[in-house]
Amino acid sequence: MILATMRMALGAFVLAFIALEGFAQGPAGVKPTTKKNSVRPDANGPTPIKTLVREYKSKNFLLHTDLSSKEVTELLNRLETMLRLISRYYGKPNLQPIEINVVQDLKNWSEGSIPIEVISKIERREGITLSATRGERNGLGQIRITAAKSIVWAVADRGTPQHEAVHAYCHQAFGRTGPTWYAEGMAELGQYWRENDESVQIHEGVLHYLQSEKPKRVTEITASGQSTGDGWQNYAWRWALCHLLAVNRNYRDRFKPLGLALLNDQPTSFLDVYGSMTQEINFEFEFFLKHLCQGYRVDLCGWDWKTKFNRLRGSNTAHVKIEAGRGWQASRIAVRTGDRISFTAVGEWTLAKEGKKLSAAGDSTGLGKLDAILLDDYVLSKPFEWGESGEFISPSEGHLYLRCHDDWSSISDNSGAVNVTLQMMNWAGLHFLGRAASEGVRSVELAGSDPETAKDVVGAAFPALVWWLSFGGLPVGSRQASRSTPP
Ligand SMILES: [Zn+2]
Repeated sequence: MILATMRMALGAFVLAFIALEGFAQGPAGVKPTTKKNSVRPDANGPTPIKTLVREYKSKNFLLHTDLSSKEVTELLNRLETMLRLISRYYGKPNLQPIEINVVQDLKNWSEGSIPIEVISKIERREGITLSATRGERNGLGQIRITAAKSIVWAVADRGTPQHEAVHAYCHQAFGRTGPTWYAEGMAELGQYWRENDESVQIHEGVLHYLQSEKPKRVTEITASGQSTGDGWQNYAWRWALCHLLAVNRNYRDRFKPLGLALLNDQPTSFLDVYGSMTQEINFEFEFFLKHLCQGYRVDLCGWDWKTKFNRLRGSNTAHVKIEAGRGWQASRIAVRTGDRISFTAVGEWTLAKEGKKLSAAGDSTGLGKLDAILLDDYVLSKPFEWGESGEFISPSEGHLYLRCHDDWSSISDNSGAVNVTLQMMNWAGLHFLGRAASEGVRSVELAGSDPETAKDVVGAAFPALVWWLSFGGLPVGSRQASRSTPP
């Protein structure tokens, strides 16, 4: 569906404002239509409405529609729920009833009852929000919005009335809807919002489109100079970005203040707020789109950018708790190419509410298995299947992240966690001793020119040598003798 919002004068109410105030301002990036075209052709006299179109009222809506009364009840319930959620989100109540016209069949509406520019929208299965704003100048010469009114027209499908009602709420509450990427992205969010449920549940066509396309860059989606009604594909990208920013814990705390600033016409932009996080957002946006599916939980699958990663030293061990109900989680361990890491996972998790308890070995299909992945400079390796215990030789360098293998669509019903112990095996412990015994001190030279590895080797070598000197017996003397012999 393609959806649009436009500022235009509608009927005597708005014309009076325009005639008096001469101010009808469009939101940034929205092309206002000409006032001449926007006047209803029948503005001079009301046209009687056929009995098939009836008026209904709910707390926040004045609805005109040809839907059946059963469908009306369901629609008004959905609209009221959406409005409750969005006004709670913005912390601002709806100030006046939203007038909404929902058209199931144009034939049920009497001639002249629908504005000409709306008819073509309805024929294309779209919606439009017609808004007008009245403003007054204050003593500093600034224009202050004193009244705003929207009238919604929407085709009677699943999402369009809700999408357009978001525009109407924003316009009536704030006098504007923000730049196109934000206005349309939030209207799409509003269309899908459900109480206490942040999982992705979107139109199947939108889902398939986003799954099949190469991800757009975030700066392209938020670029200025865009117009509404520019194709549902653009709406899909705006939804995806707004969903990520509104739900992901790394970004959501900045998203609402940004939105409120845009709606209140304060000087700010996407880049002002998120410019320092562009690499993280681009990475998470691409990751989100790569794994996008119905049920995906952005809030549970955000990346941890705060935890510090360090390489394991000597025979030190690291312990990390990995939860089944989240995406990739930081292990705090950085690795280099060729590092040998032993891992052991203790504990159980389940992949469904009443699911069978599984160890980190998972089930016979691989679900529930402990998986690992490396992240290096915002580039991910392929995932590695780990399981309950074993050794991992790192094929590249990076930061190690772990997760419980499960479909990305059904992470939220998982529970339990495993405690993973990680240990560097390159030089530590018995492995080092065996090597030292057979190769003597030359082992230290294997550290090559890498000072950190050399430090690890020396760190591991010292206790090993003490042990060897104490209990190793004769080989020590013979080795010392051989080394002290002049050539
Ligand atoms: Zn829209």
